[in-house]
Amino acid sequence: MSHDPNCIFCKIVQGQIPSKKVYEDEDLLGFHDIQPWAPVHFLLIPKQHIASMVDLTPEHAALMGKMAVLVPQLMKELGVTNGFRTVVNTGSDGGQEVFHLHMHAMGGPRPWLKG
Ligand code: AMP
Ligand code: ZN
Repeated sequence: MSHDPNCIFCKIVQGQIPSKKVYEDEDLLGFHDIQPWAPVHFLLIPKQHIASMVDLTPEHAALMGKMAVLVPQLMKELGVTNGFRTVVNTGSDGGQEVFHLHMHAMGGPRPWLKG
């Protein structure tokens, strides 16, 4: 499993920085966003360091599929029943701030902080 020693999400994966986990298996980690925009806002990340969607190769297809399938399951477990939003920011113009691929998953009653 490849980690970047300077990456904040790799540090979370390795338990060097605490997180409020919502999911963990051998490939993926889900944890609550530290600055939530919505009543429920978690991030789902691959445990291996992939900087952004730009770095995906065909070998990552199953991993990304697993993330997509997991989000609705986790939302249900967290009591979100009225829909949710998923966002993957990619690169500078995509608004990405943490360069370890992550899927934002936001739900819960509106209004939300950022529309
Ligand atoms: P992005 O702009 O898509 O790169 O979003 C990065 C997200 O990571 C932001 O929503 C931050 O609030 C969140 N974040 C940064 N550091 C942490 C942390 N230590 N624990 C949980 N979420 C974090
Ligand atoms: Zn990383």
